[in-house]
Amino acid sequence: MTEHTTKVKEETLFGKEKNPSNIQPLKLTMDSKIKFRCHPGVSCFTACCGGIKIVLTPYDILMLTKRLGIPAHELLHKYTLPTYLEKTDMPGVMIKMREEDNKCPFVTPEGCTVYTDRPSACRYYPVGMADFHEGGTRDAEGNELESNEEKFFFLVKEDYCKGHEEDKEWTVREWRADQGVDVRDDMNREWLRLVMRRKSFGHQATLSEQAKRMFFMASTDLETFRRFIFESSFLDTYIVDEETLDKIREDDVELMHFSFKYLASSLFGTQTMDLREDKVKEKIKQMKEQQDEAVINAVKDYENMKNEMLNVKE
Ligand code: SF4
Ligand code: SF4
Repeated sequence: MTEHTTKVKEETLFGKEKNPSNIQPLKLTMDSKIKFRCHPGVSCFTACCGGIKIVLTPYDILMLTKRLGIPAHELLHKYTLPTYLEKTDMPGVMIKMREEDNKCPFVTPEGCTVYTDRPSACRYYPVGMADFHEGGTRDAEGNELESNEEKFFFLVKEDYCKGHEEDKEWTVREWRADQGVDVRDDMNREWLRLVMRRKSFGHQATLSEQAKRMFFMASTDLETFRRFIFESSFLDTYIVDEETLDKIREDDVELMHFSFKYLASSLFGTQTMDLREDKVKEKIKQMKEQQDEAVINAVKDYENMKNEMLNVKE
């Protein structure tokens, strides 16, 4: 085991390295040129696949389950550990390194055994992306009208990575296309926004345990989320058109995007889902009745207590 594989590097959802000394102090754009090539001939081949925190996005999990031909719960159990996302209280998972050598369970001396379906974080390396999503304009319901996103890239250069000494030169755009990062960005964007929205709330706002469990379930196990939609009272509460229902019944990627809309609506109250008004009214009535009952019981308790006290005095 080499020295660098023994220390845990922190690769975040956005592919940012925690140790700032490894980040080149230069803002890159899509057209900036970088010199880098990773291939089985480099002396450090697979050195970066150990001692690292690789957080999985819902799309990463979906692709890995398809690749390995196993259900999500088995993937989570065998290959992941629980973690929190971006220093929030949002639960997620990261790849569990092998106990014997602290390396990724998918790496062999010949390389990554799930290469074409490797997680997003593995694809970003060594080009990190900073994606600031602050301010912007929202309507009264919190829906975004105008985005204030600023995106730039940076290069992560670690001594052990010999890919930087290779002759291949390309633009960040070409590199990203080659690594399939653009597709992953499209797939991960809305989910990352949920996490960043939670992060921007800080600790002032609390998220119920039930909400956290729902976020975890929808983010990690689409099959269970599908059952939740079709086998619970979900469709009594939300209006979902037939076309969407047909799509999410069959298509996992459609279901994943639908889950992001649902989570935005249920966790942050965005108007991304239509509620059945009659059901909402019924629910409010039920809650009011329960409240009324609680008040009546409290008054009864108080009366009983008062009578007991009066009896004692007498
Ligand atoms: S998934 Fe593949 S590329 Fe990513 S760390 Fe594991 S072996 Fe390396
Ligand atoms: S060149 Fe860099 S990215 Fe490629 S295997 Fe070596 S350390 Fe990993």
